[in-house]
Amino acid sequence: MQVPFLDLKAAYRELQSELDAIYVQVMESGWYILGDAVKRFEEDFASYCGVRHCVGVGNGLEALHLVLRAWDIGPGDEVIVPANTYIATWLAVTYAGARPVPVEPDEKTYNLDAGNIAAVVNKNTKAIIAVHLYGQPADMDAINQVAQRYNLKVLEDAAQAQGAMYKGRFTGSLADAAGFSFYPGKNLGAYGDAGAITTNDDKLAEKLRALRNYGSKIKYYNDYQGFNSRLDELQAAFLRVKLRHLDEWNRRRSSLAEVYLQKILCPDLELPAVSEWVRPAWHLFVVRSSRRNELEAYLKSHEIDTLIHYPVPPHLSGAYRSLGFGPGDFPLTERLANEVLSLPMGPQLKISMAGLVIQTVNEYGKSSCGLNGKPEHERPEAI
Ligand SMILES: *Cc1c(COP(=O)(O)O)cnc(C)c1O
Repeated sequence: MQVPFLDLKAAYRELQSELDAIYVQVMESGWYILGDAVKRFEEDFASYCGVRHCVGVGNGLEALHLVLRAWDIGPGDEVIVPANTYIATWLAVTYAGARPVPVEPDEKTYNLDAGNIAAVVNKNTKAIIAVHLYGQPADMDAINQVAQRYNLKVLEDAAQAQGAMYKGRFTGSLADAAGFSFYPGKNLGAYGDAGAITTNDDKLAEKLRALRNYGSKIKYYNDYQGFNSRLDELQAAFLRVKLRHLDEWNRRRSSLAEVYLQKILCPDLELPAVSEWVRPAWHLFVVRSSRRNELEAYLKSHEIDTLIHYPVPPHLSGAYRSLGFGPGDFPLTERLANEVLSLPMGPQLKISMAGLVIQTVNEYGKSSCGLNGKPEHERPEAI
């Protein structure tokens, strides 16, 4: 039995009648860009996140980029970013013409460590982007506190965390603004590219509505040198349908994560640590092993798909050679890139398949560690 990493077709099958009906409705409407469906999705998503505004845009990268633009962040400015993130977080900064300044993550949660921020703040620092990596919210109270001290804006990169909560509040409502991606594989995924920004800032929302649409508030009257980054009607309509299922689908992810956490007994692996004040969205279930490549190969030979998020940290990627970073500059981030492995996870992953993943990982644990697959606390004391 092949275990897929994520089965998007099964997700479509589950909602097929609703999605097909809405497709016909949009097609028949004769209006395909910035219409009723976008407006209604924006209202629904803002209300879901518990904020005043949602602005639909073309994708997650543009969501982050447009916020930085709206804050007039550009050449000469610096934006603090996690060293340990998907490269889009950094690209949003360089798109704006500013410089990404990486900081190391927290060793347990892999998210931005607020304690590392102060050391890199200088007079050019304008903002912090906090990524809710793998679906677990970053420690936003600590991050906002540092930001306040230095008068910095805070932007959530919530691309992996739709529906996740921090101290009882939803992601998207935890900072000055948040960027979401609705790339098909995200927890709330469209059927093409899509993204959104959420904020409680009226002025910011108004400017973003112009920036996403050629810088114009009134057609053919352009206040800014804007962009073409619009959420289209079809995607908005699909997202509106899927939003109604987000909590239920995140609950299924959570149940699977619970089973993984309880039943994976390979002593060689570090399982994800969940802070007590968060409800993660479990976008990914990421384990860590010093012999990651062996585990990956073993699972592959047993027809279990895995992925690595991410094999090359942005500072070592060809894209950012010009920043002059080298191996050893962010040792924890680099170690994570060599040790993390994402196991199959998704709302359509059957429990029997998760069971197979667990069984196979535990078999690997037995054969590779010689510890009979017993977890640390069940092993006899060394004498
Ligand atoms: C997916 C993702 C993005 C970018 O989203 P796109 O819609 O693909 O542009 C940004 N940041 C993170 C952390 C992501 O996972």
